[in-house]
Amino acid sequence: MKVIVPTSITYPIVETFHSIQGEGSWMGVSAFFIRLAGCDVHCYWCDQKESWPVKPHPRRTIEELAKLAKQTNPMIVVITGGEPLIHNLYPLTDELRKLGLRIHLETSGTHPFSGSFDWVTFSPKPFSPPNESTYNRVNELKVVIASELDLQWGQQEAKKVPVDTVKYLQPEWGSPKSKQLIYDFVLQHPDWRIGVQMHKFLSFR
Ligand code: SF4
Repeated sequence: MKVIVPTSITYPIVETFHSIQGEGSWMGVSAFFIRLAGCDVHCYWCDQKESWPVKPHPRRTIEELAKLAKQTNPMIVVITGGEPLIHNLYPLTDELRKLGLRIHLETSGTHPFSGSFDWVTFSPKPFSPPNESTYNRVNELKVVIASELDLQWGQQEAKKVPVDTVKYLQPEWGSPKSKQLIYDFVLQHPDWRIGVQMHKFLSFR
């Protein structure tokens, strides 16, 4: 009789690394990052373009990824990309949960939501509308601002997330007027705050 050996579930991985969460409400904490390959959003300012295609990247098993994360003893595990929700994330988050890890997601929300998370950072893009299934899972909204149109759009998106969502505006560094725009906006809208990427100032990963 032929014995069928169950195969483990794998994901295409750009990189894993242990560092400090450099942005948002969890800025400054020890974090293990799992960067999944695959993104069809294609933001022009993206600094992770190598993560767009899936094929060139090696696949790793959920057991391997969970073990790597646990070994670093992080406060949080951050699943990022690419656009992680291209994949069904339940197998990966279930495996991380087995080891008692706290799991965060960074997503643009363009695909149906999957996975079990302790914290979801949602960074929607006006040129790639989010899937409706993401909105009620959001803990933190991050809107990248290049123009006044982005501010208007960010306010529209903020109406769709839970009322206790922490709302950040982040300047688009290639847009010279973005910093002044968000500065003026937050002074007039105190329920929003300015977000920066600490790891870039301190030269962390
Ligand atoms: S969603 Fe993220 S990974 Fe994809 S293009 Fe935009 S910034 Fe890059």
